[in-house]
Amino acid sequence: MRAVAMPAAALMALLALAGCERSPAPASTTADPAAAQRIEADVRFLADDKLEGRETGTRGYDLAADYVAKRYAQIGLQPAGDGGTFFQQVPLLKATREQAGAKFEIVRGGRTIALRFKDQYLPSQNYNAAVHALTAPAVFVGQGVHAPELQHDDFAGVDLQGKIAVVFSGAPERFDNDRRAFYASSREKLRALVERGAVGVVYVNTAEDEARQPWSRSSESWDKPGMRLRGADGKGIDTFPQLQAIAYVAASAADLVFADGPQTAAQLFDAAEAGTLKPFALPGTITLAGRTRIEPAQSRNVVAKLAGSDAKLGTESIVYTAHLDHLGTGAPVKGDRIYNGALDNALGVSIMLEAARELAATKPRPKRSLLFVALTAEEKGLLGAEWFATHPTAPNGALVANINMDMPVLLAPTRDVVPIGVEHSTLQPAMAAAAKETGVALSPDPFPEEVVFVRSDQYAFIRAGIPAVYLDGGVAAAGKGPDPKAALRDFLRNCYHQPCDDVSQPIQYGDAARLARLNARIGVLVGDARERPRWNTGDFFGEKFAKGTPAQ
Ligand SMILES: [Zn+2]
Repeated sequence: MRAVAMPAAALMALLALAGCERSPAPASTTADPAAAQRIEADVRFLADDKLEGRETGTRGYDLAADYVAKRYAQIGLQPAGDGGTFFQQVPLLKATREQAGAKFEIVRGGRTIALRFKDQYLPSQNYNAAVHALTAPAVFVGQGVHAPELQHDDFAGVDLQGKIAVVFSGAPERFDNDRRAFYASSREKLRALVERGAVGVVYVNTAEDEARQPWSRSSESWDKPGMRLRGADGKGIDTFPQLQAIAYVAASAADLVFADGPQTAAQLFDAAEAGTLKPFALPGTITLAGRTRIEPAQSRNVVAKLAGSDAKLGTESIVYTAHLDHLGTGAPVKGDRIYNGALDNALGVSIMLEAARELAATKPRPKRSLLFVALTAEEKGLLGAEWFATHPTAPNGALVANINMDMPVLLAPTRDVVPIGVEHSTLQPAMAAAAKETGVALSPDPFPEEVVFVRSDQYAFIRAGIPAVYLDGGVAAAGKGPDPKAALRDFLRNCYHQPCDDVSQPIQYGDAARLARLNARIGVLVGDARERPRWNTGDFFGEKFAKGTPAQ
């Protein structure tokens, strides 16, 4: 399935129209066809085949970035990137693994077991060494979680010094969702392993992991580059150079890794689900080797500002974000190799643009300043957001809230919105008031166990101590239409991160317009509030991160 290509002339005409339309949006809750049309035009441009899936560091992404800058200017926003431009340069390190020289060998009881590249294992991109080779004894450490406040220690009684850690993803199910998400993040896991002296890591997929995401899906794109932020010293940030090698093993090959150990892979998978994993040393040694092409790269966040009307509060900023990048081109599915990313996240960016247009037309302007950031490299690990949150183009400490839009799945008419993470901070009453004023119902997160609050760009802001909300599409059907929750599930199963996430889907642009209006309304309420948003007392994320700097 291909996105319908639109002639350039038609696009420019739409663009011109969108720019001229400056009347403020009506305050009523009735549908706004003009807003819906503007959003559709933006989505059609950003998700067009010509943009080749907007992968970070490609021509397609740059076209998208230039387009967003042009739209900011039409809307009447000020440039707020580097040196009076709409762009903030984001320094990146790009790493592409090579098959030649890759090796995963287990030497145990006098025999050597070699795993097959791609079918059974993949080396991770190595950001610190073009060639790596490591041979060491291995220790299984469950999910690699040490959470003393929850009396959980996957490292009890084993020594990881100089060893390769064999580890499962995730965190124990008995943890509450917030802690489970925190401890399941690979950053926390790798940090815990490095602290204990590990020199390498083998992630073994469980059967449950692959029920969610089949090995073949990720292994197909093994030659796609990975990325990290690049520091002033030219080295990758958050790349854990102490770990000389990292590799991933398919669930189907887990038995080879655990051969001659005290438990089979199947027993360990069961124990992982039951929360009864215990660490143990594996016999013999594991050899991991690989080659990576490492090169500097660069991309751009696209940043605009609407200055606040109050002299004092105007120095504080509310940051709207939506990631502009997607996956680019890749393995063809039904003959289509362009991963257009219409919902993920052309739609989120387009809704942000419409909210910006409404806010620019609001008189008087909100007291606090508003920033709009189309972010790069979300799909590479929230990198554009991480860079902006740690190198804001607004004065440090002046960012008071983040409102993020990522992949609103609006494929069936709804009457609600899902504000994810709003319960963590004083953004909640503002959200409730904004929803009431715009006639939108608020629904709780339909899949709280997925903790998407830490899985999109807002997490970079949360880690910088800034309260955030992630606005997602609704789940309650409008009238007797199709069930939005079923449509969401169907999308996640079939088109999420696939070429069929394109504009041929039944995108509900009217609902998108309503989401834009809600977004804009929150900006006004939080922008005019006397107090800046705060984390709720005792909130997990607030306690963990709200000291102004992220805990490193
Ligand atoms: Zn995505």
